[in-house]
Amino acid sequence: MAWTPDRRSFLLAAATMALAGCAPDQAGQSLGDTPEPAVNAAAGIGSPPAAQATASPATAGGPAAQPRTVLTRDEVTKTYAAQAAKYWGLEAPGVLTRLPPAAAGVTLTFDFCGGANGNGADLAILAVLRQLHIPATLFLNSRWTTANQALAKDLAGDPLFELANHGTSHRPLSVTGRSAYGIPGTRNPGEVYDEIMTNDAVLTALTGQRPRFFRPGTAYLDEVSAQVVRSLDLIPVGFTINGDGGATFPAATVTREISRARAGDIVIAHGNHPAGGTSPGLVRALAVMKDRGETFVPLPRTIST
Ligand SMILES: [Zn+2]
Repeated sequence: MAWTPDRRSFLLAAATMALAGCAPDQAGQSLGDTPEPAVNAAAGIGSPPAAQATASPATAGGPAAQPRTVLTRDEVTKTYAAQAAKYWGLEAPGVLTRLPPAAAGVTLTFDFCGGANGNGADLAILAVLRQLHIPATLFLNSRWTTANQALAKDLAGDPLFELANHGTSHRPLSVTGRSAYGIPGTRNPGEVYDEIMTNDAVLTALTGQRPRFFRPGTAYLDEVSAQVVRSLDLIPVGFTINGDGGATFPAATVTREISRARAGDIVIAHGNHPAGGTSPGLVRALAVMKDRGETFVPLPRTIST
């Protein structure tokens, strides 16, 4: 797609903001609007490595939870320690970046990053989704959940929303300590495990079942980390449409970007910056999309390659 001068200015602004508060995450996502990625299926989402799999304590969810066999921390360390990572970015092999070809609609995802400048809650987003009965996947970071416990519990009880894992400390997922927008990534497979599974336990306690989806802080990851995510029976999720540039876009830009989504697209926006342009832009975008008959679907729980 062509990048307009308008978009360039936002990218520059977002990059400038990368040193402040939750902005690094926002900048990362504002830079992620790359041309139409397909499902990065080279590594085969849906077939996590089975080597030495044993039951993890985290599989003990509520009564309705399916038994899920995942690697332990030690097994992750042993299995992935010798694997070299070459890719670094938003669309590592194994990441779900676009819905399968048969998808009947658009998937909306919202990140709740937490942190000093990221613990807000954009209630207008939740209200419009509920009003229009539009499903969405909400990626919660541990820091945000800790700061918004009552709201998190409310969201967990609403079948319209699927709660997903946005990491424990909001770190990019790297097996070598690579950074994204000034945020140091995890340094080895064990830290990748911790970044995922500490918040996994938080979400499991919140909802009564393990989450199914994971998106790292900044959305950056390498391909080895993507495999670690999958070995933990989680689907790493990217996006095709950057809806709010990390909550830096004004409302009109949010409307323009989100409303261009068509069936198969995964839209990312943020639910933790109520003073930004995300919610007013989203409200108008959803009206446009409803008028043209667009439908909204949840993320697929399994992906075959
Ligand atoms: Zn985030």
